[in-house]
Amino acid sequence: MFKNNPVLTAIMQLIIITDMDGCFLDHDTYNYEDSVEAFNKAVKQGAIISFCTSKNLDEIEAYNKKLGVNFPFIAENGSVIYIPKDFFGFEFEFQKETEDYKIIELNVKHDETIKMLHKIRKELSFEFIIFSEMASEEINEDCGLSIEAAKLAKNKQYADVVKIVDETPEKVEQFRQAVEKENFSSARGIRYHTITKGSNKGKAAKVLLDLYKRKYNKIVSIGLGDSPNDVSMLKEVDSPYLVAKPDGSHTDTGNLTVEKVGGIGPKGWSKAVNELLDNSQ
Ligand SMILES: [Mg+2]
Repeated sequence: MFKNNPVLTAIMQLIIITDMDGCFLDHDTYNYEDSVEAFNKAVKQGAIISFCTSKNLDEIEAYNKKLGVNFPFIAENGSVIYIPKDFFGFEFEFQKETEDYKIIELNVKHDETIKMLHKIRKELSFEFIIFSEMASEEINEDCGLSIEAAKLAKNKQYADVVKIVDETPEKVEQFRQAVEKENFSSARGIRYHTITKGSNKGKAAKVLLDLYKRKYNKIVSIGLGDSPNDVSMLKEVDSPYLVAKPDGSHTDTGNLTVEKVGGIGPKGWSKAVNELLDNSQ
């Protein structure tokens, strides 16, 4: 997009908004060994990389610490934006403040999410499992997170994710309808269905991108995802990229045109970001 245009790139701040699981991180191992080089290169060249993920505060902080970055990020599927204090240097609306962050809340609190899920559990004729109610050992078995990582992952403050037992398209549809009747929405990740109320990755990405625009005036935004729940976020960026799923295929993005990268998860991530950086020089 900004190929061979050094003047343009010199005045534009590059913002990368990226999903984590199955995208920046490997679907099975949750490692970033295939994407960390491109990540570091992008940061070194001045890019801002904001995670936009189903992961929660504790999980993202653990990755940020290992990666040595402290950028604003979107957690729990668009439920909340954590902005390191003093990052923007101007006043903006936020709902909560901690020692480290100004927090923009876009979803209801976790107890309300759980209350709704317990209600529809009684109404539906099939079983579903709520992630935050699983034992760490079960999570470890189900999705491969280590026991330690599973403990962090359970600590949700807004959204939750659900696994439908013996899932069929009919069950998914009934589940979706039951959730929507309660004014919540469900979106498909690769492993689980995410449950939010009033927000999604796209809405949160828009709020964050507007703040970046205020700070930098001119930005160019790149989005990277792998699954249906990333589509709303990919719609908000200038250049959306989709990395391949573990079977090599790409998620259907409906009428949204995206750049389909030929590389699974972090390998695709790395390819997309490297090309982007090469073309912007
Ligand atoms: Mg993903």
